[in-house]
Amino acid sequence: MRIAVGGFQHETNTFAPQQATLADFEAPDAWPGLVRGAAMLDAVRGINLPAAGFIAEALSAGHAVLPLTWCSATPSAHVTRDAFEHISALLLDDLRSNHAIDAVYLDLHGAMVAEHIDDADGELLRRVRDAVGPQTPIVASLDFHANVSPLMVQSASALVAFRTYPHLDMAETGARALRCLHDMAGRTLAASLESLPFLIPLTSQCTLMEPLSSVMQEIEALSPAVGALNFTPGFPAADVAKCGPAIFGYGLDRSIAASVAQVAQRIARHEHRFALDILEVDAAMHALQMQPARRGSPVILADTQDNPGGGGTADTTTLIKALITRRTPRTLAGLLCDPQAAARAHAAGVGQMVDLSLGAHSGGTSDTPIHARFTVMALGDGCFTASGPFYRGSRMELGRMALLRIDDVYIAVSSRKQQAADREMFRHLGVEPADFAVLALKSSVHFRADFGAIASRVLVIDAPGANIADPARLLFRKLRPGMRVAGRR
Ligand SMILES: [Zn+2]
Repeated sequence: MRIAVGGFQHETNTFAPQQATLADFEAPDAWPGLVRGAAMLDAVRGINLPAAGFIAEALSAGHAVLPLTWCSATPSAHVTRDAFEHISALLLDDLRSNHAIDAVYLDLHGAMVAEHIDDADGELLRRVRDAVGPQTPIVASLDFHANVSPLMVQSASALVAFRTYPHLDMAETGARALRCLHDMAGRTLAASLESLPFLIPLTSQCTLMEPLSSVMQEIEALSPAVGALNFTPGFPAADVAKCGPAIFGYGLDRSIAASVAQVAQRIARHEHRFALDILEVDAAMHALQMQPARRGSPVILADTQDNPGGGGTADTTTLIKALITRRTPRTLAGLLCDPQAAARAHAAGVGQMVDLSLGAHSGGTSDTPIHARFTVMALGDGCFTASGPFYRGSRMELGRMALLRIDDVYIAVSSRKQQAADREMFRHLGVEPADFAVLALKSSVHFRADFGAIASRVLVIDAPGANIADPARLLFRKLRPGMRVAGRR
């Protein structure tokens, strides 16, 4: 087959302060900046990304891959109209100029909202369907946090979603999408979609824990031989009608609808188990005092609400200030995004003291900068390769980085925001996370992939940030009628 391959990924937190511009898609971060044409093959190769998995599987099966455009931007508020229309046009122009395409594969997130289009993934799939006509198969992979709409399900020939959070199976999902395309063998599949009437907090969506550990095994067991069966718990911080958990599938006959209904009923019975479990900062500090952490088996404080992987600015300071004030021993925090502080540290040099106004420059919360004198412990250029199971193979470009120290609290600073989900982010600055007693990580769940094995405990912290953990605190206007937060009737 001649398969056109493209990607356009964004997870949109409509409540976050910063929009995603074209420049955000063009810049590399953990993942490549916007690539068009043949450069895509090298740019994604070896990374735990759906497009990488799809392309590797397609090439090994002897198909011709026709690269269109691939891009992603770190989660934030709406994709600007300009960025959405520009990138959509790149994809569609290349699609129309490639003749004799047998199939299309798209690497999408599924929770993209543009300034002018609430269901941006649905609109993109609709335009691609218009361009290639009703007969050409269109298969797309989706993130576990996709907010899936009827338009998305109808416009694609099949949608295949991740089954893990932390997302260990991103590349594997791309490979599954290729196998799905193979097995379809040109046939049109029956589709089914059911949405659930409650929002699931991000920190309750982890598939390493129950109930989702068992639910995902059941979905695997029920999956049809041809097609796909998916559950996406959704990305709750999105004020759009498609926001929420969805069960959807594709199969050779209508029996897929029975499987979708069975999974939907099973998950609905677990609703109360998805309730939020989060600690106020003072309560967390008290817990640390009552049961002191030990070097070598750190307690992890998940600063979930400032997780840049969910739209946080990665520069809030409340949790770090609490750790400094209470002089917690052997503590490592990060990644705090502050390009000015990183530049100041680089200008001063390793071993020097710098007076900084650190963090809280993005605004949007009650946080204020940390005005203090820090020792510059290490410097880095922000270029390194991730080795943990989530960011595996990512060639990070986080700009100038610095490790700052005040008392026994070490703070890893970067110039571009990125979720603290890989131990290499700290090793790049010469420290080993396992050697600390307390780790304060700006991440919700993905950190568990690489840090879970070294942690003695995990406390999810309720500190300020744009990635609001409790959907009940968000002022929704556009949700479907009757939507509630899981466990709160
Ligand atoms: Zn996700």
